[in-house]
Amino acid sequence: MSDVISAPAQARVPVRGGGTFPVRRIYCVGRNFADHAREMGVTAPASKAERGNPTFFAKPADAIVTGNADVPYPSGTKDLHHEVELVVALGADAPAGVLPLEATQALVYGYGIGLDLTRRDLQATAKKAGLPWDTAKGFDHSAPISDLVPATQVSDLMSLGVTLTVNGTVRQHAPLTDMIWDVPDILHELSKLYALKAGDLVFMGTPSGVAALQPGDVFVATLDGVAEVRGTIVG
Ligand code: MN
Repeated sequence: MSDVISAPAQARVPVRGGGTFPVRRIYCVGRNFADHAREMGVTAPASKAERGNPTFFAKPADAIVTGNADVPYPSGTKDLHHEVELVVALGADAPAGVLPLEATQALVYGYGIGLDLTRRDLQATAKKAGLPWDTAKGFDHSAPISDLVPATQVSDLMSLGVTLTVNGTVRQHAPLTDMIWDVPDILHELSKLYALKAGDLVFMGTPSGVAALQPGDVFVATLDGVAEVRGTIVG
């Protein structure tokens, strides 16, 4: 049987050193930094024991923006927000069942830095009404991402921090040790809900300092000395 339409383009992220990473799904973690949870008006857990379950949502694979391309200001919002986030790329399929913490690292292909762009006004309306976040989170061009760096080239991930500057001013900065749920925790939790597979990306949540972007703004997001993505918001 042949396709009755031309096949959609496969979303791909360049890999530092050569090659490309085909994207299957994009999972995102909400409220993974206590200071960001508080700035969003949510009580942050006081300890790991009290953290409950992580919040997950998704973006379509073709929401990525690669190669430091311009990012169009999206339709339907007057309050586009930046959220700088560690991105984890999975290079292998998880075995069936819940993934033990000690088996998570074997799935990781590499890391990058990305933005979880958010229509904050639509998200606020959805939250108030108890409605889904999809239009606030899963829109076109909502996931600018750096080239991926193989995990074999990252010696001590948890010693790194994430930083976002806009027009040269630091807007967000935090060490990854501030994450409520680290990478093994999140892959373990995701595996209770989804069959994780090679090609999946996980956006790990943002620290405090989220704020509006305007047409003309130039952003630079970095994972300390490892990965960087930059771009311009175009009206
Ligand atoms: Mn986010």
